[in-house]
Amino acid sequence: MSGTRLAKLTASLALRAHRPRVLQPIPALVATVPRRSAAVAVPEDHVSRASQGPPVDIRTPENGDIRSTLEKAVSAHGPRNTWTREEIAAIYDTPLMDLVYNASTVHRRFHDPSQVQLCTLLSIKTGGCTEDCSYCAQSSRYDTGLKASKLVTMGSVLKAARIARDNGSTRFCMGAAWRDMKGRKSNLRDIKEMIQEVRGMGMEVCVTLGMLDDAQAKELKDAGLTAYNHNVDTSREFYPSVITTRSYDERLNTIENVSQAGISVCSGGILGLGEKKEDHIGLIYTLSTLPNHPESVPINTLVPIPGTPLGDNKPIEFKSVLRTIATARIVMPKSIVRLAAGRITLSDEQQALCFMAGANAIFTGDKMLTTDCTSWDEDKNLLEGWGLRPMKSFERQSANPEMVDTAEDAALEQGNAKALFGTERPFQQVKQETGTSS
Ligand code: SF4
Repeated sequence: MSGTRLAKLTASLALRAHRPRVLQPIPALVATVPRRSAAVAVPEDHVSRASQGPPVDIRTPENGDIRSTLEKAVSAHGPRNTWTREEIAAIYDTPLMDLVYNASTVHRRFHDPSQVQLCTLLSIKTGGCTEDCSYCAQSSRYDTGLKASKLVTMGSVLKAARIARDNGSTRFCMGAAWRDMKGRKSNLRDIKEMIQEVRGMGMEVCVTLGMLDDAQAKELKDAGLTAYNHNVDTSREFYPSVITTRSYDERLNTIENVSQAGISVCSGGILGLGEKKEDHIGLIYTLSTLPNHPESVPINTLVPIPGTPLGDNKPIEFKSVLRTIATARIVMPKSIVRLAAGRITLSDEQQALCFMAGANAIFTGDKMLTTDCTSWDEDKNLLEGWGLRPMKSFERQSANPEMVDTAEDAALEQGNAKALFGTERPFQQVKQETGTSS
């Protein structure tokens, strides 16, 4: 073992020696569960004097499973992609304050908790999309009053990027309302130039252009693209209720093409589409069992657009948003968890809880594609008020020596994954394991 590795391990053990227990025993269970083995010691103050005797095992088959799943997840040294739905459900169903506490613990191990990435999203081609995503203002199938436009000019992109950079945004995202990039050679050429110019300004660049084939992904990579956004939106089971014009597996194909081209994947979902909690679990299951976890996981909440099929949906309960963020943080410990569309409806205190639960990126600026966004000035006040600071470009470092972030450790991590799981997980396996094709 190298000296560096040994030093890290020593630091890691020292830190863990002071780490609090993952879950505190639940007094109600202590009182009602009969004595069994001495596997879990219960602190004396949780046991009445009359019942003092050998330590009591407070685990029922149910809470014992939750506890051990959460304990394992919270003490893991790196990402794993062999999650089962049951494990994710056990984490998701943890009492909310415990869930947030544990997510926060994981967040502090893998990220600098004082940093939040600021991103700005510009619509570079608005409306007129042939897809039928039932939440979207830009689909040509719905009468939303949105005027379709052509690809914007390089000048307007650079102006928007400069304003974003000068206001502290370090990732600049560009979105085009297209099904895919088939037959869009000149658009692709223009977008590659935009990517090169914005990268030249020292910013990370992300684009979302619909479905990509492998050659298009490679071209974008060569242009210097940092990340590609392609959300899976929801669970595989609920997905056909939301979109019918492209399948879940087509989404996964694009994610695979992007990933294999060496571009960071940004993929997440939308809450409030009318789904159940099982679909939040299913969404996280899909993302966390990809061969590599997405570098960025945007969590959107529906902004109901009049004229779309979901225009009258009721807002989702904040606790479900928080639960989803915390579970994503625990299950995908190294990913950036991004508060995306719908953040404008959250109070400062709700956003602070999301940061506590592991969210560490926000969209900020005048607009988020076609919907309103919280402005830079408001966000500066928000971050300052909670003792947070903007992440620098390409800065995703942890203050904690436990974080696996060197080339040597990445290789070790992969080696460990192989040793544990036998093989790298191909996308085909993900497609089969998340259910049948839609
Ligand atoms: S593909 Fe994108 S732009 Fe087109 S309808 Fe769906 S979400 Fe809207």
